[in-house]
Amino acid sequence: MAAPGKSEEKSTAEAQLRDTLLRAKRVVVKLGSRVVIGDDGKAATGRLASVVEACMAWRRAGKEVLIVSSGAVGLGRRVLGMSASRKLSLREKQACAAVGQAHLVQAYHALFEKRGGTAAQVLLTADDFADRGHYLNLKDTLDTLLAMGVVPVINENDTVSVAELETRGKTRSFGDNDSLSALVAGKSGAQLLLILTDVDGIYDDNPRLNPGARHHPLIPDFETLTGVRNRGKSTEGRGGMASKVHAARVAAICGVATVITSGCVERPLSPLPGEPGAGKATLVSPKRRIAEKKAWIAHSSGYAGVLRVNPGAAAALARGDRSLLPVGVVAVEGRFAAGAVVSLQTEEGAELGRGKVNYSAEELKRVKGLKGKEALAAVESGGVKRKEEVVHRDDLVMFQA
Ligand code: GLU
Repeated sequence: MAAPGKSEEKSTAEAQLRDTLLRAKRVVVKLGSRVVIGDDGKAATGRLASVVEACMAWRRAGKEVLIVSSGAVGLGRRVLGMSASRKLSLREKQACAAVGQAHLVQAYHALFEKRGGTAAQVLLTADDFADRGHYLNLKDTLDTLLAMGVVPVINENDTVSVAELETRGKTRSFGDNDSLSALVAGKSGAQLLLILTDVDGIYDDNPRLNPGARHHPLIPDFETLTGVRNRGKSTEGRGGMASKVHAARVAAICGVATVITSGCVERPLSPLPGEPGAGKATLVSPKRRIAEKKAWIAHSSGYAGVLRVNPGAAAALARGDRSLLPVGVVAVEGRFAAGAVVSLQTEEGAELGRGKVNYSAEELKRVKGLKGKEALAAVESGGVKRKEEVVHRDDLVMFQA
């Protein structure tokens, strides 16, 4: 069969975009710092008003809307008179966030109030997702706010959490608001995550560095994304395109569709993506929704350690119906207790998935590479029976499965 032409691909994507937006009952809208803050360093109220209008129209149509908004550091920087070019220390960023968050939420409050709506401030740390008790409390509060018709405006609690503001090296961290928005969408049971950023979708290369970069209107699955080069990063916010791709993948695994489009236009979301006259956008289709416990494993904020597995175990895990046994583990990194969520990686460092371990890091160092009975003998004591699986298949989420 011939590959679809460019215009055919575009109209299929537009139809799917319209359908996705129409069907979604719960929508998470994520705004990056570049969208929230204008060139003058102040809140871009014209743009924000347009987003708030779209949110109010959805509310009237019976949808529930949550906002994840960056911009606290940038707004605080201006209020405190720190020039946009000055490199801030981590503590200064936290101070800016504390000052700027008040301005940020005040801007949303005023815009919603003017249109008959109500906004609520919700500040979260990564731990709130990792701790199941906190997470369930959070979910109940969000559900209650939404049932009251309130729009929660969520940001990372930068004063106590540094993951948002710090560079985390190579590890796949949840250290930016793109990932936070994917967690919120996945865990609140939303059907749509709408990321408003300074690029109008996913390209196979950075369109600012390469004018020939190809735009993807529709990503039906992540196999399509193998050739994407994620060069460049926006200045104030933490997330570049790589973190958007990662967020979309996290959302997809949770059964949430992601739309990435530009919010740096005069009237974002007017018209809505897929409607006539709207700018370009990328729709990332969701996978089948996974069980809530698995979603929690896949997207709890980060992971406590890394298990490197041999190629045999990697191939068995890729089938999606196998558990990880001690014999497949070649290396253990990090300090964690039994029950922690770990990242499962190949020996070369490619992440295969995540799982909840039945052994602590200490125990794993003893049992790695051992076969069934030998492994159990190394950890069982005092007649207490242990499970042989390092990660049981019910507690395992493979990213490519
Ligand atoms: N929480 C930070 C802020 O409000 C932004 C983090 C990010 O851009 O991802 O400024």
